[in-house]
Amino acid sequence: MEDIMQPDQKPLSPGDEGPPDAPGVGEDICAACQGTGMVEGERCDVCGGTGKVLQGIGGG
Ligand SMILES: [Zn+2]
Repeated sequence: MEDIMQPDQKPLSPGDEGPPDAPGVGEDICAACQGTGMVEGERCDVCGGTGKVLQGIGGG
Protein backbone atom coordinates (compact mmCIF):
# COMPACT_ATOMS: atom_id res chain seq x y z
CA MET A 1 0.00 0.00 0.00
CA GLU A 2 1.34 3.37 -0.92
CA ASP A 3 -0.02 6.76 -0.05
CA ILE A 4 1.57 9.42 -2.19
CA MET A 5 0.12 12.25 -0.16
CA GLN A 6 1.67 11.30 3.15
CA PRO A 7 2.00 14.48 5.22
CA ASP A 8 5.22 13.22 6.80
CA GLN A 9 6.80 12.50 3.45
CA LYS A 10 9.63 14.89 2.80
CA PRO A 11 10.34 15.87 -0.78
CA LEU A 12 13.34 14.27 -2.34
CA SER A 13 16.52 16.27 -2.31
CA PRO A 14 18.19 17.02 -5.62
CA GLY A 15 21.03 14.73 -4.64
CA ASP A 16 18.80 11.83 -3.87
CA GLU A 17 18.89 9.02 -6.34
CA GLY A 18 15.58 7.52 -5.40
CA PRO A 19 12.84 7.34 -2.83
CA PRO A 20 13.95 6.16 0.62
CA ASP A 21 11.75 3.12 0.46
CA ALA A 22 12.98 1.99 -2.92
CA PRO A 23 14.89 -1.29 -3.06
CA GLY A 24 18.61 -0.94 -3.52
CA VAL A 25 18.67 2.62 -2.25
CA GLY A 26 20.39 3.60 0.96
CA GLU A 27 20.99 6.73 2.92
CA ASP A 28 24.52 8.08 2.83
CA ILE A 29 26.42 11.11 3.97
CA CYS A 30 26.31 13.91 1.44
CA ALA A 31 29.70 14.16 -0.22
CA ALA A 32 29.17 17.79 -1.17
CA CYS A 33 28.83 19.07 2.39
CA GLN A 34 30.31 16.12 4.28
CA GLY A 35 27.05 15.67 6.13
CA THR A 36 26.95 19.17 7.52
CA GLY A 37 24.12 20.33 5.29
CA MET A 38 25.99 23.53 4.66
CA VAL A 39 28.47 24.51 1.98
CA GLU A 40 30.41 27.72 2.47
CA GLY A 41 27.71 29.11 4.72
CA GLU A 42 24.90 28.25 2.33
CA ARG A 43 22.46 25.39 2.44
CA CYS A 44 23.79 22.47 0.47
CA ASP A 45 21.99 22.12 -2.83
CA VAL A 46 22.81 18.47 -3.21
CA CYS A 47 21.14 17.18 -0.07
CA GLY A 48 18.87 20.14 0.52
CA GLY A 49 20.53 20.86 3.85
CA THR A 50 19.88 17.47 5.37
CA GLY A 51 23.50 16.36 5.15
CA LYS A 52 22.33 13.05 3.82
CA VAL A 53 21.53 11.74 0.38
CA LEU A 54 19.95 8.59 -0.93
CA GLN A 55 22.20 6.60 -3.16
CA GLY A 56 21.85 3.38 -5.03
CA ILE A 57 23.76 0.62 -3.28
CA GLY A 58 23.29 -2.11 -5.79
CA GLY A 59 26.57 -1.41 -7.54
CA GLY A 60 25.08 -0.09 -10.61
ZN1 LIG B 1 24.94 18.21 1.23
